[in-house]
Amino acid sequence: MIITHHAELYLSDGDLVIHSNNGDGPAAVAFRVHKGLLAYNSPIFRDMLALPCRPDVQDGYDGAPLVRLSDEARELESALGALYNPSSLAVRRWDPGAPNQLSSAMRIAKKYEIDSIRARVVAALEDSWPRTFADWLRFRGELAALDGTHHYGAGLATRFDDCVPEPASAIRLARDHDIPGILPFAFYTLATIGADHDWDAERAKAADVQKPEVRTARWSLLPPDGWQRVLRGRERLMHAVADIVRSYTDSADLMQSYSSLDCEDEDVCIDAAADIASNWEEHTLNMATVIAHARCPDPLALLEKLYNCPVAAQKVCGTCHQKLKKRIRDEQKYIWDCLPDVFALK
Ligand SMILES: [Zn+2]
Repeated sequence: MIITHHAELYLSDGDLVIHSNNGDGPAAVAFRVHKGLLAYNSPIFRDMLALPCRPDVQDGYDGAPLVRLSDEARELESALGALYNPSSLAVRRWDPGAPNQLSSAMRIAKKYEIDSIRARVVAALEDSWPRTFADWLRFRGELAALDGTHHYGAGLATRFDDCVPEPASAIRLARDHDIPGILPFAFYTLATIGADHDWDAERAKAADVQKPEVRTARWSLLPPDGWQRVLRGRERLMHAVADIVRSYTDSADLMQSYSSLDCEDEDVCIDAAADIASNWEEHTLNMATVIAHARCPDPLALLEKLYNCPVAAQKVCGTCHQKLKKRIRDEQKYIWDCLPDVFALK
């Protein structure tokens, strides 16, 4: 068998040589590293290296003990590289390629129980996906700001979804390595993306027919049970959208949600309910909205539109407006809290 030495991770003062599995390739890769570093970071390596008679630790390569592992060279490179240089695992926040980039190191970390690598990968993933409603409010604000710069031509990349986290690969990594906290919103995000909007297929199109503003997903990475969760979730979220359309276009229901003894001008605020309801029915909660959300429902975004709509602010007093906004936030919070159930993640 041909052995090639790894360009960076064949260290002259290393006291252990590791041969990768050559897989389908013509050559195995040799790494020369330090036993102490492996033993310090991995109880599996510690036990393996403590037993001099183990058949997988043999004398025999370039004057150092040799271990032959069944892992592929690129996976070992990723994990060993991270032990010597932790910043090699650093990924840009929201980088849509991060889950794929980190999956090799994570697989080795799981197999050899290298907690230091696992902790960094988990932190990187959790940094890109809101896990609480307060996280989501901040996320939503940043996303809106990013969307604004993108639309005004000052975008960081040609495609909007090159700047935001990609849900299917994140779900895959989270499911493979037990990182459940990110799943509810990653599934929610995936449910808002059309199944025919595939990451690779969209990028394979000619530039003039690509839609840079359309969000895509790496659908093929979705775990086997993922489709069922997405479809189930979409049905539930569609009900939430229908409830929003019904209640926020009903003037009596709307008025109930803000009228109070603290109102600064009751006559004006009571009359305003019908105006707000009909404005929303015409512009925000119309048939086009219902059709768009029937395919990929996004009730959190729909409520956010109502929250930011200037019409209510113009029509009712400040006190009533604050009450109405609080109702909208409370409903978003309720939907957020239901997400583990919506996607059967409990
Ligand atoms: Zn009022």
